[in-house]
Amino acid sequence: MTSSTMQAAVSSGPNQIGLQSLATPEADAGDVRVRIEACGICGSDLALLGVGALPPGMPAGHEMMGVIESLGADVTGVTVGQRVAVEPFRTCGTCTSCRAGRGNICREAKLLGVHAPGGLAEYATVPAQRVFPVAEGLPSPIAALAEPLSVSVHGLRRVAFEPGQRVLVLGAGSVGLLTVLAAKAFGAGEVIATARHAHQAERAEALGADRVLLEREAEPMALAQLGQERDIDIVVETVGGTADTLNAAGIAVRPGGAVSVLGVFMAPVSLQTLPFLMKEVTLGFSYCYEHGDDHADFADSLQILDEHRDAAAQLITHTLPLTEVERAFTLAADRKAGAIKVSVTP
Ligand SMILES: [Zn+2]
Ligand SMILES: [Zn+2]
Repeated sequence: MTSSTMQAAVSSGPNQIGLQSLATPEADAGDVRVRIEACGICGSDLALLGVGALPPGMPAGHEMMGVIESLGADVTGVTVGQRVAVEPFRTCGTCTSCRAGRGNICREAKLLGVHAPGGLAEYATVPAQRVFPVAEGLPSPIAALAEPLSVSVHGLRRVAFEPGQRVLVLGAGSVGLLTVLAAKAFGAGEVIATARHAHQAERAEALGADRVLLEREAEPMALAQLGQERDIDIVVETVGGTADTLNAAGIAVRPGGAVSVLGVFMAPVSLQTLPFLMKEVTLGFSYCYEHGDDHADFADSLQILDEHRDAAAQLITHTLPLTEVERAFTLAADRKAGAIKVSVTP
């Protein structure tokens, strides 16, 4: 018997998160209830918590996976006991975007853990159509990486990545590192990454980067030089914030190449458009992930994680129980201490 209450990590204001006892959710029609096995903490969780924008009164966390424990009405195609990773969206299901398998840009899209109850809890109810089976024996914290890895997979898909291409990944935070993994797994000819910290550079190499550039080598003129020596087909920007990375991407990428933007810029950026114009560069913005009838970013990600377990395991720097969720957030915020991905296991 599942208890009628559960423990969940809930924010109660800027930089305040702690355990609360909430009613265990029941699966509505079309939903399944998942007993959470792991939920990663994301940079966006930290940013939202910092400004008090995590939803009050409901569990945070969107990088979740677990075991299906009960099914709501009208649910088919999944079974109780299945281990699944959760694509954490609720969408209208009927608009033009949803019908095209692009629920991520549905006007009604809600991200679980940000706009609706999430996975930093013992249980979560999620749409049955958004669970993806996890390979047998794949450790839970690694399977929960399907969410951030799907961001990278989608970013490559948005600019029509092809095997053999030379890819420059700007930034070696968790999304940058996962983009290195995704590009290598999809057959990139060469992957070059830029990294700010030494420990990030080490991980980028461990994840398959053929070359890692530290700060000075990653300055715009140095990147332009690199692109002139040999064509860079795709640049993936994963830094955002206040970085001048879009201009660097524009001058580094080859004529006819593409720039995929995964980084989150919170203020207007000044963009030198001339390189983009003169080279007919495709500038592709990418938000989260999606699935249609013929493709699913999550399914691709789970396959990559299964085939590259050892590499992916290096991204999980800390695993903590739900009871220590406050410390988990503190650790995740401390990049200099070497945290890449902190995983919470209820
Ligand atoms: Zn995330
Ligand atoms: Zn929709």
